[in-house]
Amino acid sequence: MTPYDDIASAASAPLIDGFGRTVTYLRLSVTDRCDLRCVYCMAEHMTFLPKVEVLTLEELDRIATAFVGLGTRKLRLTGGEPLVRKGMMDLVRSLGRHLRTGALDELTLTTNGTRLTEFAGDLAAAGVRRINVSLDTLKPDLFRKLTRGGDVAKVLAGVRAAQDAGLAVKINAVALKDDNAAELPDLIAWAHGQGCDITLIETMPMGEVEADRTDQYLSLKDLRRELESFWTLEDLPLNTGGPARYVRVAETGGRLGLITPLSHNFCEACNRVRLTCTGTLHTCLGQEDATDLRAVLRAGATDAELVSVIRGGIAVKPKGHDFQIARKAPAVARHMSTTGG
Ligand code: SAM
Ligand code: SF4
Repeated sequence: MTPYDDIASAASAPLIDGFGRTVTYLRLSVTDRCDLRCVYCMAEHMTFLPKVEVLTLEELDRIATAFVGLGTRKLRLTGGEPLVRKGMMDLVRSLGRHLRTGALDELTLTTNGTRLTEFAGDLAAAGVRRINVSLDTLKPDLFRKLTRGGDVAKVLAGVRAAQDAGLAVKINAVALKDDNAAELPDLIAWAHGQGCDITLIETMPMGEVEADRTDQYLSLKDLRRELESFWTLEDLPLNTGGPARYVRVAETGGRLGLITPLSHNFCEACNRVRLTCTGTLHTCLGQEDATDLRAVLRAGATDAELVSVIRGGIAVKPKGHDFQIARKAPAVARHMSTTGG
């Protein structure tokens, strides 16, 4: 893979949007494909993108490197399922060079964990130190239902493999009123017992899926109140620049993050942008704003031209999002698997 490091010289001043926020965090979706079909994320029969529409590994590397040159300190690879992308480890190894030069603080990924037994060692060797593993339930039957066919044992083995390889694992769970609400205290206690932080996420209205999300919406404010009836939750000042609020559960000693995109507005401090696997830059998860970087690359743009288009996209980053679960239609038509969670 060609390192596109010359692009760093075409970049210099950091990326600052029209509201004075500095963008330092890029989430890069490397594929829209996945080996699971989580009910809140995908339709049962998804039509995946033709290969030609998806950025090549070289294009992903070039854009990511441009962002690193523009002051991005944290890069998260996501999807779809990043570990099903062919050649994924080549990309991770290649991007790892920015860690070694000190240009990047963190290279990480969000995964469903099914292939971690195979890849945890390679990830650690490439410089990855922490990963997020999505896991909504420990119950094999419920896991199979929520993921439409997945095997929770694979994910649990993956979490162990990651820890054995020296990776810190954070568990992400979507809070679903009917399906896992009652199990969440057990899931939190289990994660803390494994030495993992855990973050709970409210369902977001992203993309058309069969389930009616208004039925599954569980307010984390209400959940927090319930947890406080038997646990002591101590607020932590930890600020990740993201939408999570953190507490320590005194009884387990572990950290719990609560992401409430619907009931809490976190946009003022937003430092992140997303790139879809088709090369579209979205500067807000909940808005339709978009800049097509793939078209720019494939038109033969120079590094300076690419940087200029990125700056233009960042300049118009919207002030904030506007999710309301009460709406039946999704706030944003694109699926989370395309945008990258
Ligand atoms: N496949 C990987 C995984 O599941 O971790 C990475 C991509 S996935 C789209 C990233 C995260 O988005 C997952 O934690 C998933 O639970 C979350 N997610 C997907 N659809 C969602 C929705 N409608 N609301 C809230 N979170 C969602
Ligand atoms: Fe796949 Fe992740 Fe979406 Fe589940 S949440 S279907 S694992 S991309």
